[in-house]
Amino acid sequence: MSEELKTLLESLKAITLENDGEIPYWGEKIHLKAPAVGSLGFPIPNSVEGLGNPKDPTADTSSIGKSRFGKEVGAVPVCSRNPSTELGRRGQTGTAPHPSNSEIQDKTSALEILRKNEIGDCLRCALGQTRKKLVFGVGNPAARVMFVGEGPGFEEDRQGEPFVGKAGQLLDKILAAIQLDRQKVYIANIVKCHPMVDPKKPEMRGNDRPPTPEEMAPCLSFLKKQIDIINPVIIVTLGATAAKALLNTFEGITRIRGKLRDVNIVDGKPPYKVLPTYHPAALLRNPDLKKDVWEDMKLLRQILSQ
Ligand code: SF4
Repeated sequence: MSEELKTLLESLKAITLENDGEIPYWGEKIHLKAPAVGSLGFPIPNSVEGLGNPKDPTADTSSIGKSRFGKEVGAVPVCSRNPSTELGRRGQTGTAPHPSNSEIQDKTSALEILRKNEIGDCLRCALGQTRKKLVFGVGNPAARVMFVGEGPGFEEDRQGEPFVGKAGQLLDKILAAIQLDRQKVYIANIVKCHPMVDPKKPEMRGNDRPPTPEEMAPCLSFLKKQIDIINPVIIVTLGATAAKALLNTFEGITRIRGKLRDVNIVDGKPPYKVLPTYHPAALLRNPDLKKDVWEDMKLLRQILSQ
């Protein structure tokens, strides 16, 4: 057992349901209040400190994200403690049965068919010509919450997994602060190939850009099919581009973040709850935004606890 884990366990022992407390969390302090013990049985951090040092958002994130279960949909976790056991499924209220293994297998198979048979070596837009790896998505096919970003960056293009750079490490930290991780959620992007400012310089870092409407249009149909298969209770969009694409709006991210909307995404299906928030990369540039994201994550936690 690592020293860090030993220290954490000792601190947790000192905290009872009746008492508030403080535990070390990746080199920082998280304040816990006893009444915040949620339906998952874990204390919920009550302070923005759980998202990291606002003055240094990249601090101490090196340990985050090392327990990812695999790339794309091939490695499907059957979580020993799936949150859907306690929190219900989309279209149901209260608690609901654990998704059966056959349900998880069906979703896994459907995602694999979408990836291999429908998307394949897609060249429906110009981004397909310059990608190194197509970044389909990663996570639990029976996830109750999906996080959607705008598109792969430099690292994602090489690893074939969304949110693996510094912004991804911060996303892992945000997830951990509300007792989620990549085994419980599903993470995807609006486009599945790397948009570059200068496609002639694929080895240059800092060459990322948001996808254009022409690039998003063909790829959005793939994302909608992923959403239809996974059927999450809520979708959290990360950043302005993802919010605008999924909400089909021109409103700015500062105006729409934190506001829950019902959005028709899949034809013939009930609307999905969509919660826009800032992209983790924006938090790295402007740590003051962490407070807003923390408010959004508390709202997400509340919705998942209903
Ligand atoms: S971004 Fe989407 S539509 Fe464009 S080539 Fe890649 S998979 Fe195909």
